[in-house]
Amino acid sequence: MSPVIVRTIDELRLRVRELRAAGHTIGLVPTMGALHEGHLSLVQAAKDDGHKVIVSIFVNPTQFNDKKDLEKYPRNEAADVALLEPLDVAIVWAPHVEEMYADGFATTVSVSGITDGLCGATRPGHFDGVATVVSKLLLQALPDAAYFGQKDYQQLAVINRLVADLNIPAKIVGCPILREVDGLAMSSRNVRLSEKGRKTAALLFQTLSQAAEDIDSGKSVETVMSRSSEALLAAGFEAIDYLEMRSADDLSPMTEFDRPARLFVAAFLDGVRLIDNVVVKGR
Ligand code: AMP
Repeated sequence: MSPVIVRTIDELRLRVRELRAAGHTIGLVPTMGALHEGHLSLVQAAKDDGHKVIVSIFVNPTQFNDKKDLEKYPRNEAADVALLEPLDVAIVWAPHVEEMYADGFATTVSVSGITDGLCGATRPGHFDGVATVVSKLLLQALPDAAYFGQKDYQQLAVINRLVADLNIPAKIVGCPILREVDGLAMSSRNVRLSEKGRKTAALLFQTLSQAAEDIDSGKSVETVMSRSSEALLAAGFEAIDYLEMRSADDLSPMTEFDRPARLFVAAFLDGVRLIDNVVVKGR
């Protein structure tokens, strides 16, 4: 069945009340649209947990530190809704910007600490935008659970923090990264890559995976990181925002592999900022 498309908070609340009155629980999947299989895997996870699913589609202007990135962000609501149809999504929550940020809007949710490094260091204001809009989405839909991808691992950590700190009664579920056959993490931004860039892009995951193996086999973290950066730049990436090993738990920087770790990368290709992360397995 086609999902109902909702544009106002009043209607969203009404429809959520109706679903709850019919005995359903609610799973929310926040997205910025341009849906791909990665997003659909979150919807499936929510369904598997037995929820009626709300997918929000909102390209949130306040989390874009680069105006051009916001302008170029792919938007195609009709195609998104068509992709959701076979999954029996109950509601597509697609508010206009004015519904989300009414005149006089003046509140920001800001999470400190875990937002200092990685994307927080290179995208000023980004996580304030994310934390604010996710808080709003959770308070609007009041879901039992909300589903997020580990593709945006730092974002997931920020959301876990704010939900705990603000006592928002929703369970946050982190879901695995869905990848293309060559390993490239699925992303709405991938469509902006040139044909050549799309091939080069696979090196991001391949390089990261090799680096994780090398660190696991005892090689120096610093050497592995600098060699990996060099390899990406030599392959055609224009710039690397960061390539770092961090604690998988609290995202604190690590120079030795002495606790559960992940490798994080953000790099530009064809002017598109791609991010990825992998676990360092350990033996
Ligand atoms: P976005 O539309 O890019 O803001 O992403 C919406 C949600 O989908 C976020 O929780 C992302 O982490 C998640 N997501 C995006 N790409 C993937 C992927 N390749 N695998 C799993 N989850 C993803």
